Amino acid sequence: MHGMTQGDHGPGHEHGHDHEHDHEHSELGAMDLRVRALESLLAAKGWIDPAALDAIVDAYQTRIGPRNGARVVARAWVDPAYRDWLRRDATAAIASLGFSGRQGEHMVVVENTPDTHHLVVCTLCSCYPWPVLGLPPTWYKSAPYRARAVRDPRGVLADFGVVLPESTAIRVWDSTAEIRYLVLPMRPPGSEGLSEDALADLVTRDSMIGTGLPRSPSPA
Ligand code: FE
Repeated sequence: MHGMTQGDHGPGHEHGHDHEHDHEHSELGAMDLRVRALESLLAAKGWIDPAALDAIVDAYQTRIGPRNGARVVARAWVDPAYRDWLRRDATAAIASLGFSGRQGEHMVVVENTPDTHHLVVCTLCSCYPWPVLGLPPTWYKSAPYRARAVRDPRGVLADFGVVLPESTAIRVWDSTAEIRYLVLPMRPPGSEGLSEDALADLVTRDSMIGTGLPRSPSPA
């Protein structure tokens, strides 16, 4: 599923990226130090404003974070026409709610059913749909998750506390620089009377990666 489509990535790198690479965990510490050193140097020379950088990071972690994806899921749960649009053209359907931009240009929504559960990974690095989920969690970028999600998805789900019936197939989607996946989880039982806002509150980040399930509504 990592096939190369036409893009503007250079040759010799099947998995082109314009975001940070962190292929080796052991290099993360050194890379972090280099980034901080560079930031300090640029700030000292007056080229960048550290507060502006902080604002960008904060935007991705909170405002542009998983609550955006939760809005998409809740809308799909209450609006069959919107759900159908997501199936046909997820990028456009998601952008219609105001969520678009870098790392979300080519979105595909995969829909959980009683028969099939979807799990998203980036086996080569950390491709992730920023406009709907924000910044990827640390475990998503870790080598064990990237390797095991493909080899033993049911075991990975168990580690996350998700145990599915044996009759439910698990399908793994390998994100690329070109395509980013969002899981549409199943609407939880007992949520029939809830408003769209209340439904969005049930949607967890992990349920949109496939490593979790939505919360159950609290009993009235
Ligand atoms: Fe990647």
